[in-house]
Amino acid sequence: MAGPDHEVAVIGAGLSGIGMAIALRRAGIDDHVVLERADDLGGTWRDNTYPGVGVDVPAQAYQFSFAPNPRWSRVFAPGSEVMAYVERVADEYRVRDRVRFGCEVAERVWDEDAAFWRLRLAAGGEVTARFVVSAIGPFVDPRPVEIPGADDFAGVVLHTARWDGAQDLAGLRVAVVGTGASAVQLVPEIVRRAAHLDVYQRTPIWVAPKPDFTTPRALMRLFERAPRAQDAVRRATTRGVEWMLVDGVVHHGRAPGVNRAITRLLSAWYRTQVRDPAVRRRLTPDYGLGCKRPSVSNTYLRTFNRRNVALVTDPIDRITATGVRTADGRERPVDAIVLATGFRLASDPENFRRTPVRGRAGFDLATAYTENRLESYEGVSIPGLPNHFMMFGPYGWVGGTWHQLVETTSAHIVRVVAEARRRGAASVEVRPEASARWTEAMRDRLAGSLWASGGCATARSYYFDHHGDTPYLRPTSAAQAYRASAAFPLDDYAFAPADEPLPTGPAERTP
Ligand SMILES: Cc1cc2nc3c(=O)[nH]c(=O)nc-3n(C[C@H](O)[C@H](O)[C@H](O)COP(=O)(O)OP(=O)(O)OC[C@H]3O[C@@H](n4cnc5c(N)ncnc54)[C@H](O)[C@@H]3O)c2cc1C
Repeated sequence: MAGPDHEVAVIGAGLSGIGMAIALRRAGIDDHVVLERADDLGGTWRDNTYPGVGVDVPAQAYQFSFAPNPRWSRVFAPGSEVMAYVERVADEYRVRDRVRFGCEVAERVWDEDAAFWRLRLAAGGEVTARFVVSAIGPFVDPRPVEIPGADDFAGVVLHTARWDGAQDLAGLRVAVVGTGASAVQLVPEIVRRAAHLDVYQRTPIWVAPKPDFTTPRALMRLFERAPRAQDAVRRATTRGVEWMLVDGVVHHGRAPGVNRAITRLLSAWYRTQVRDPAVRRRLTPDYGLGCKRPSVSNTYLRTFNRRNVALVTDPIDRITATGVRTADGRERPVDAIVLATGFRLASDPENFRRTPVRGRAGFDLATAYTENRLESYEGVSIPGLPNHFMMFGPYGWVGGTWHQLVETTSAHIVRVVAEARRRGAASVEVRPEASARWTEAMRDRLAGSLWASGGCATARSYYFDHHGDTPYLRPTSAAQAYRASAAFPLDDYAFAPADEPLPTGPAERTP
């Protein structure tokens, strides 16, 4: 029987796909392809170009350990700079020549007889691969607009993730729908040009002060000359982000007073930012810090002091041809509507109805996600899907920043693929008992988390899935996750021998 087109196919050329391709190349697994539906790489940083877009963690933490950028212009880098970094890393590690652009995978089907995956393309045809890595991130497709009447609107409609830079909002009356992380960055920027802004808020967000400043030239030079000094800064900031975003949530039960104390401090800061007590009250969340991803900004809250900005918390009833009508019957006319309404959830079964993933013996990922609580092994593999890995699977978010996740997950995947080569195995599948055991351990750890405390009911957070579980985050430290990627028992996977010899080669983990 003919072999597959490639040994490994990676779906998606964002940070995850690029990091995965680098790990494969470093391991000597050279027969790999990256399938990307767009015409450029970069994922999130290619698609999100709205005014004010940038990282909400320090850029020193938002970079690969093996590819430090000594020249980040400021603590919180703008999106265009992150995009330039992504492109530079991809070029430096020769990833671009492995990417097939304009190549959307519409369906993944495991061919049991051939022991490889058939990836059906939206444009027709297929790519086959022995192993598949899904590097489709958590924030890819904008959430469809659920507000009645959206199609009736006669003015300009923009989504933060599909920004049209040609649309000038100068002098316009604008409605911004949503107050999540993107809105926190966008609102203070567009208010400078718009004549009037109505900000429609369903759930308020915790916003903390942003310790942002430009990087002194002397520090850039130091980082260039002494990479170890920069690495120490990278490690320290990464740990700091992890402490703020992960530790406080996961270990909440041990010291709930800490969360309450930080919340009180933040509330006090809100008093210095928002003058009108009624507006401030509406901007202040009634759920604990960490129930929903918080953000940082020195300008967002102050925006609501401006005369030309209104915070609207009455629920939206519908969009009309000329504006937005709220449930109290009031219609506010606008020229443009900006949807800052977020993305389809990575754990949403509907994603896998639209782009099905069909594994062994009738296993269908959409059905599994609908009917069963989400589970995985190490956030990477799922029983029923042989030779298939996810960069970001259930309980997969590692540490405070995405790069830790990518380096950890790709190390795990490379180890399994290398072992399959070593054993001459055609297929490898995580054992159901290993997956169940690991998932149970993660759920046990989450039992003491903020999310299980009952204080998050009003947060409407994407941390919670349709089963009421919180399978977003891996509740261990990033260091533990990385160690586990090198130490998990390989026999937690079942390796099935090939009928014929498979390609072998140098496949060792390199640091
Ligand atoms: C505005 C914004 C700011 C963020 N800031 C931070 C931050 O400060 N810190 C942090 O840790 N995280 C942040 N994130 C999260 C961010 O998404 C990740 O950090 C990271 O960029 C995700 O990379 P990825 O490669 O996994 O996914 P993506 O960047 O989403 O890339 C996925 C790629 O897959 C492609 N693709 C999707 N479906 C298919 C298909 N069927 N076939 C082929 N190709 C497909 C897409 O076109 C895309 O290029 C932010 C996210 C957003 C939206």
